[in-house]
Amino acid sequence: MKSYRKELWYNTAVRRQLLNITPQINDCLRESGIKEGLCLVNAMHITASVFINDNESGLHSDFERWLEKLAPEKPYSQYAHNGFEDNADAHLKRTIMGREVVVAITEGKLDFGPWEQIFYGEFDGMRRKRVLVKIIGE
Ligand code: ZN
Repeated sequence: MKSYRKELWYNTAVRRQLLNITPQINDCLRESGIKEGLCLVNAMHITASVFINDNESGLHSDFERWLEKLAPEKPYSQYAHNGFEDNADAHLKRTIMGREVVVAITEGKLDFGPWEQIFYGEFDGMRRKRVLVKIIGE
């Protein structure tokens, strides 16, 4: 069995942003040389997510509005976590959107359903943060 590991770094210019990282995961898969197996992609930070959904801008703005209804950023004072930090909303948003995805690899490709793409969801950005890619198989 082969095993591949890589860290991808992101630094968004704004606090919240969704990035389509599918092209970089495809690069990792090519680099791994693995044709049959599993690909795990996870955020390495507790205020960011990795999730699979549609690459459609209307949906992305719906996510932003929906998450702000569930866990509004402000006022910061509404959260017990915000003593030394102001990112309680980001922890909550990350929990809703998930930590990781696992995608099957078949014949050297990510075995997606229709319209599936992999996204990095940043909820407390403007600093360098990592995504882990682990691919196992043969
Ligand atoms: Zn925090």
